[in-house]
Amino acid sequence: MPLYEYHCSSCGRRFSLLVPASKRDEARCPDCGQEAKRLLSGFGIAKGGTLTTGSSCGSGAFT
Ligand SMILES: [Zn+2]
Repeated sequence: MPLYEYHCSSCGRRFSLLVPASKRDEARCPDCGQEAKRLLSGFGIAKGGTLTTGSSCGSGAFT
């Protein structure tokens, strides 16, 4: 799944999400819930620790 970068024009937050290509334009801001705009230049960037998963307490929830 590709990593896309988004920018929320409502609150100004910038975040990255792993989403299927078919849903890449349906992302919503994790802060305010508004529709976020996809940044074209951010495709495929996965710097260490910048991936937004919604929780920062990595307790190994993914199995
Ligand atoms: Zn927002």
